[in-house]
Amino acid sequence: MKNLANLLLIAVCISSSLNSFSQRLKSDDIRVMVDENFMTATTNLHHFLRLPNDGNFQEQIENNKAWCDSVFRSLKFKTQTIITDGAPLLFAEKIFHKDRKSILFYLQIDGQPIDRSEWSQNDPFEPVFKTLKNGEWTTEEFDFTQKNIPDDLRIFARSASDSKGPAMSLISALKILQEQQINPEYNIKVIMDFQEELGSPDLPKAVIKNKNLLESEMLLIMDGTRHLSNLPTLTYGARGIATATITVFGSTDALHSGQYGNYAPNPVFKAAQLINSFKDEKGIVKISGFYDGVYLSERDKELLGEIPENMDSLNSRLGIAIPEEVADTYQEALQFPSFNIRGLKAGWTGKEVRTLIPEEVIIEIDMRLVPETPGERQIELLRAHIKKEGFHMVDSIPTKEERATYPKLVSFNYRIGSKPFRTEMDSSIGEFLNSALTKVFGNTVVNMRTTGGSQPMAPFIEALNIPAVSIRIPNPDNNIHAPNENLRMGNYREGIISCIAVLTEKLP
Ligand SMILES: [Zn+2]
Repeated sequence: MKNLANLLLIAVCISSSLNSFSQRLKSDDIRVMVDENFMTATTNLHHFLRLPNDGNFQEQIENNKAWCDSVFRSLKFKTQTIITDGAPLLFAEKIFHKDRKSILFYLQIDGQPIDRSEWSQNDPFEPVFKTLKNGEWTTEEFDFTQKNIPDDLRIFARSASDSKGPAMSLISALKILQEQQINPEYNIKVIMDFQEELGSPDLPKAVIKNKNLLESEMLLIMDGTRHLSNLPTLTYGARGIATATITVFGSTDALHSGQYGNYAPNPVFKAAQLINSFKDEKGIVKISGFYDGVYLSERDKELLGEIPENMDSLNSRLGIAIPEEVADTYQEALQFPSFNIRGLKAGWTGKEVRTLIPEEVIIEIDMRLVPETPGERQIELLRAHIKKEGFHMVDSIPTKEERATYPKLVSFNYRIGSKPFRTEMDSSIGEFLNSALTKVFGNTVVNMRTTGGSQPMAPFIEALNIPAVSIRIPNPDNNIHAPNENLRMGNYREGIISCIAVLTEKLP
């Protein structure tokens, strides 16, 4: 540290472009600090991953909460448990400057349930280090006294990537700064969620109830995977989701196709006509008003175009000839609401096939939502479309009278899931984060306007009226939610570097 400071002093004397030089030095400074402390950070992550963290089990929640509580207390944060109707949340806060604003960090502490038999190691909560050798993941003896941890080494354990690795990146960054006696540029609040994988059922109410406590300038989410390029990634929003089940009815029971073929209508053809009415040949949804309000400006397109992506290699990876034509590129397509048939069932197939006219067809639908297309509206548009196609709608099994009256009969049920959110990329939070990350990574930062999946962030944004961005750390091939979840050590190292860069960046 002292040497670097002296070097800077000399540099000031000899360099006329002070600004760029000091910025470059600052980046080196951060890297040195992280390298010196990386073994400690790895040991702590290893320790944290040994705590089972399935949010379905109260004891596991309590153990993880106690661990986080002691960690934040050792960082001289004030901690408090937020009681909810279900699992508690943990809140931690440290005022570094009385006259400055706060940033709120969201940490997901729980992980997906595990199926031990599917893992290549005995216990998903006993972390194992592996490297790829001749196409195979090979276990490495890990020496906790070694100096250099290779970037391509990976730690395999549940929640390594989703999301104890990202949580530990922030915690390690805070610890390093504390040891170096460097204060972050702003005050810090942290909220820890122990049931994210269960859809954070009690979070929305807790946020509204604790508005004053959580009040801050912005929300930074330590969750989510990097862009496919594995470059440092910032994501400004997530799509929401609404689902629906449509059952198209035929005769009361399945009928013999020899006896009743040519007489009793087969509901599969009616379902096919309905399905055909949802999208045109280019994959564009034909439901009237489905895309209304969604608009990409030239600037949006320009920003989306900066993401390093090649459609040919994407198509070949997916095994498709040509994509749908909702938008010009993959990233642009994610900015629109989508309409998907996620399941379809009628009669039997394969060895079980039989000569019957099925009595019903079940169509399972999911619609991904963007802020301009709320779930309630999309469901109403879908409902109106089905009616326009001449179907009579019931809530459950039709009555005898309904069957006698309506030749085209369906039941319709729906559910609205998490809400979409989006923070503008051309915003001060975007500038702040890009300035911080560019300082350490140069012009390699990937800014993604929206990810396809969902995150439980809408309650924060609505109740606190603040922008939210997720800082993405794990490698994209990390097997999250699946067996053999892992985190690349190079990503963990860069995660800590990212956090220090953000913590030491001046708020706009
Ligand atoms: Zn997850």
